[in-house]
Amino acid sequence: MAHTSRINLLDLDEAGLRGFFESIGEKPFRAQQVLKWVFHHAQTDITAMTDLGVALRQKLTAIAEIKLPEIIHEQRSSDGSVKWLIGFSGGNAVETVYIPEPKRGTLCVSSQVGCALNCTFCATGAQGFARNLTSSEIIGQVWLAAQALGHERNGERRLTNIVMMGMGEPLLNFDAVVSAMSLMRNDLGFGLAAKRVTLSTAGLVPGINRLRETLDVALAVSLHAPEDALRTELVPLNRKYPIAELIQACRDFVSEKHKRSVTFEYTLLDGINDHPEHAHKLVKLLRTVPSKLNLIPFNPFLGTIYRCSSVQRIKQFQEIVMHGGLIATVRKTRGEDIDAACGQLVGKVLDRTRRSERAKFVTTETTV
Ligand code: SAH
Repeated sequence: MAHTSRINLLDLDEAGLRGFFESIGEKPFRAQQVLKWVFHHAQTDITAMTDLGVALRQKLTAIAEIKLPEIIHEQRSSDGSVKWLIGFSGGNAVETVYIPEPKRGTLCVSSQVGCALNCTFCATGAQGFARNLTSSEIIGQVWLAAQALGHERNGERRLTNIVMMGMGEPLLNFDAVVSAMSLMRNDLGFGLAAKRVTLSTAGLVPGINRLRETLDVALAVSLHAPEDALRTELVPLNRKYPIAELIQACRDFVSEKHKRSVTFEYTLLDGINDHPEHAHKLVKLLRTVPSKLNLIPFNPFLGTIYRCSSVQRIKQFQEIVMHGGLIATVRKTRGEDIDAACGQLVGKVLDRTRRSERAKFVTTETTV
């Protein structure tokens, strides 16, 4: 039948899959077999999973399926970055970006179609919000990218790091994101170490606290200002969770017995948050928080009121914070020729908030 309510096994992490097999009267270790087929052998056809036995395969295909999203379009940048437009049932699509560097390859994954947070300097926010992605749609982006890239090159894995820094606020889609991230970590999945899987948040304090108790991954926090008035202007979520609470949540996150790290992201906006005074305040704020600071040159997009800080300004800012004792790097902008840089991901958002209509500009359906 065309219309099916079969369960998508890709929506379940290992624990979920074990529970599923138990619930249908099968041994939980079947979960491991299925995961190996899907992630180690890239086999998503249940009928081809030979070690499951014919009877079990028949039983499974009647009630379950393994359904991936699909690549609608691929763009390759002259610097080696790749951007995919990945489509889901219902007509929505997100963008997923691969950034190769000499010693690693990072995949930037989306968690929602659009974003509900409306940070003033982000193109995704201006598009409004359609819906959360399911766990299969999140891990599916990684699966498709790994396939498209070819998993290894010269014996080296091409995909070594994953950052939840694409479209959306991952902590507002907690369960699906955690389930997908646990498959990124799991040896039966992509087998990446905790420090190589990063969740980036605009600062949802309860979500950070919950994550701390749930899954061992790295955390990135979009700070962008050292004081509440300015941060509220740039990241409206700050009204609900002001800087002091946010920093406390970060301290708690790294103070656990696990070896954890937090990175603060700071997008430099010309004349807005890039004064030496901001840098000094940032030092005061972060000096005693075990963390790194990632300075991000602003990536402009159509209709934005902001401009990128000058190279000298960025250098000066970095010098002040480093002199103050912070570890600070400047993020190199990649994939500019294919609009794949931070905050430029737009996808195809069937906006339910109607924010895109109110915005000063209306983004076209896709950037491709
Ligand atoms: N919602 C999450 C993850 C997505 S954004 C978060 O806020 O962290 C990933 C990073 O890119 C964030 O730090 C975000 O603030 C930053 N960013 C967004 N738009 C940008 C732009 N136009 N230029 C540079 N950085 C931007």
